[in-house]
Amino acid sequence: MDMLFEEVAKAYSQIEAESGRINMTKILADLFSKTPPDLLDKVVYLTLGKLYPDYVGVELGMADRLAIKAISIASGLSEGEIERMYKEMGDLGSVAEAALKRKTQMAFFVEDLTVQKVYGNLERIAKATGAGSQDRKIRLLAELLNIAKPLEARYIVRMVTGRLRLGVADMTVLDALAVAFAMTKAVREKIERAYNLHPDLGYIAKVLAKEGLEGVEKIGITLGIPVRPMLAERLKNIDEIFEKIGPRVAFEYKYDGMRAQIHIGEKVKMIYSRRLENVTHQFPDVLKAVEEAFQGREAIFDGEMVPVDVNTGELLPFQVVSHRRGRKYDIEKMVEEIPVILFLFDIIYLDGEDLTMKPYEERREILERVVKETEKVRYAHRIVTEDKLEAQNFMDQAILDGCEGVVAKKLGPDAIYRAGVRGFLWIKYKRDYQMELGDTLDLVVVGAFAGKGKRKGTYGALLMAAYNPERDMFETVCKLGTGFSDEELAELPKKLEPYRIDHKHPRVDSQIEADFWFVPSVVLEVVGAEITLSPVHTAARDKLRKGAGLAVRFPRFTGRWRTDKKPEDATTIQELIEMYKNQVKKVVE
Ligand code: AMP
Repeated sequence: MDMLFEEVAKAYSQIEAESGRINMTKILADLFSKTPPDLLDKVVYLTLGKLYPDYVGVELGMADRLAIKAISIASGLSEGEIERMYKEMGDLGSVAEAALKRKTQMAFFVEDLTVQKVYGNLERIAKATGAGSQDRKIRLLAELLNIAKPLEARYIVRMVTGRLRLGVADMTVLDALAVAFAMTKAVREKIERAYNLHPDLGYIAKVLAKEGLEGVEKIGITLGIPVRPMLAERLKNIDEIFEKIGPRVAFEYKYDGMRAQIHIGEKVKMIYSRRLENVTHQFPDVLKAVEEAFQGREAIFDGEMVPVDVNTGELLPFQVVSHRRGRKYDIEKMVEEIPVILFLFDIIYLDGEDLTMKPYEERREILERVVKETEKVRYAHRIVTEDKLEAQNFMDQAILDGCEGVVAKKLGPDAIYRAGVRGFLWIKYKRDYQMELGDTLDLVVVGAFAGKGKRKGTYGALLMAAYNPERDMFETVCKLGTGFSDEELAELPKKLEPYRIDHKHPRVDSQIEADFWFVPSVVLEVVGAEITLSPVHTAARDKLRKGAGLAVRFPRFTGRWRTDKKPEDATTIQELIEMYKNQVKKVVE
């Protein structure tokens, strides 16, 4: 069964004229009830200005220039005239409508435009690629416009150029479906649940129209189709968290990376972003790592991908891999230079079974059972505690380890995985400031680490120290691996050779085992993001907090070898303490 596209166009023009959401929903509900069930998915997609659900990644967006040609062909007006009208009206859809109204010769045989025809041609336009595709697109659009009535042309042109903009959101469609097929709020909830587990509105609409609510209730997780991610609420401190979900609470590191939902099975291998975009081809290394770590047949995991510095092993800010798009060659290169670690924090499907109704603790157990940790795939670091102090220490440690804060997770039988919902089962607690260092530091090279990957044969990172005049010792503050040019890196071993010794120098205080040691001599200028308390570095140890020293976070070589400075002229621990106290707190968000 087919349907006249005119019905759809009329509904759209009513929506455009309508300002209230309630009426808009009603108009949509009318349209959906009039639509033959077999076509309902298509009408839903078109109404959203699409051809498929978002995660398929096919977009309509024909260039204006091509659309203008098609309008010219269909209307008989010159391209120059169409362009002039476009300048005046500012909307190509209205131009097409006006142009068709001015069309002088009427066709003898008037064919009616159907939804199938419109959808079919738009689909062929979206998929046309390669040689001659531009001409094909023009022809396919002109063909529609030749048959279209002026009002229909308005919407066809807006759709094909990716600018339908009816202001209909997914939630409006869900409401309209509930109104069209069953009126109660409970029904609306069931439809929404289906949408959260299988976010394809066209599909849900069609199931609803054909099989009713029973069909919708059967919609569940499907391997390969993204699940809308569960989201966290926010609280400002540990006390509030315990008050809300205590007395026993799980705390996990909140990794500052990119959310990844990984679908893995014999045939299906996919990574979806938080917004459900398919990002599989950008992270081939992550996929491979999961395949190696996973011991079952099929699963859907939830986790966070975080870039690491190969040479220092430290977590990096996400921006460094956010440009992992583009050509295959570039991605391969980036995979090697900046690898990514996946921290898994949930599993929502395993070997045919939906795990979303199982409580958090059980899901975590299952996760740890079916995934063995590897270098690249780890479980999100966590503790389960009733102790506020322990929780606060865990938060401090998370910051030191390069995380944004923690995510507290509710325990108990009701702690299910609520797809698509932001609620208090997960609570994020981020620190609300970021430090800014006003000054550079002059640090002494006391050790080095063997390079990996691209840095094989040279040093991957240097172990840097500040000077403690009281003890006349060099105390470590960071591993330094960034800011060097390729040439500088290649020359490092030669430059440092004169100072190399086979043991830690007696004036060096380090808890970290370096691969190579040096007599403290060479001073480098370094900038850092901030100075933090650290359990591993020895600079100013115990001065600010028992058991903790100071560390420079995200250090980078400025390129200046301070040959003018003796190691005793390096930044002192007293200066470090001052810098730590004087850091400017910059409030974020
Ligand atoms: P936000 O984006 O600020 O709402 O914080 C929630 C996000 O934190 C999630 O979408 C994840 O991408 C990220 N995240 C990092 N670590 C975790 C974790 N252990 N559990 C849940 N979410 C996490």
